[in-house]
Amino acid sequence: MAIRVTVWNEYRHEKRNPRIAQIYPEGIHGAIAAGLREAGHEVATASLDEPEHGLTDEVLARTDVLTWWGHMAHGEVQDAVVARVQRHVVDGGMGLIVLHSGHYSKIFTRLMGSTCNLKWREAGERERVWVVEPGHPIAAGLPEHFEIEHEEMYGERFDIPAPDTLVMVSWFQGGEVFRSGCCYTRGRGRIFYFRPGHESFPTYHHPHVRKVIANAVAWAAPTAGAPAPEFGNRKPLEPLAGM
Ligand code: ZN
Repeated sequence: MAIRVTVWNEYRHEKRNPRIAQIYPEGIHGAIAAGLREAGHEVATASLDEPEHGLTDEVLARTDVLTWWGHMAHGEVQDAVVARVQRHVVDGGMGLIVLHSGHYSKIFTRLMGSTCNLKWREAGERERVWVVEPGHPIAAGLPEHFEIEHEEMYGERFDIPAPDTLVMVSWFQGGEVFRSGCCYTRGRGRIFYFRPGHESFPTYHHPHVRKVIANAVAWAAPTAGAPAPEFGNRKPLEPLAGM
């Protein structure tokens, strides 16, 4: 069965900057959605300026995995919508893929519980992404490393909790390194952070970048038939002898 993906994008840079609109004529979300459709996923898109940012309970209820790209307008995302997304991840098991500058989004910092701060430089240098966990499903079909010719640099320290699994590490021409493919579990939901994707470079047209995001969607999708956890005070399952 196809995985139902909602691709969320802030969608501001593309409207304001003709150079970025030229790289992403359908928006960043359009390019990400195209890559996911190529991989056989069922894709819808949503963006910041729609009512409730396009993320109503109904939309989230029919979303297996949500992807998130934001940058200049993190502060405009309503707290009620952030809480709703968090609930769908933690209680509902919806997968969440956080991309690039989404490291500073309300939803990611809230789920991580840390600042998610990092070093950065916008010089259009080469990024080399190394697969450090080749047996992981997100690495399927990738070479040991691949290059993105022009990207923004993100460098360590990246203030995140240690990932459950670190799948990829990036090296930059200027010398920095970065944990660029990070897996987490929060409640019933799986979360993947993937670094590449600065708005002024055509990164989401890159075949290996598209492969990573498509694999991540498949990995983060909820497990069919998974038992729902129960919490709170309980009666014993067996008689407590001698009590
Ligand atoms: Zn950026």
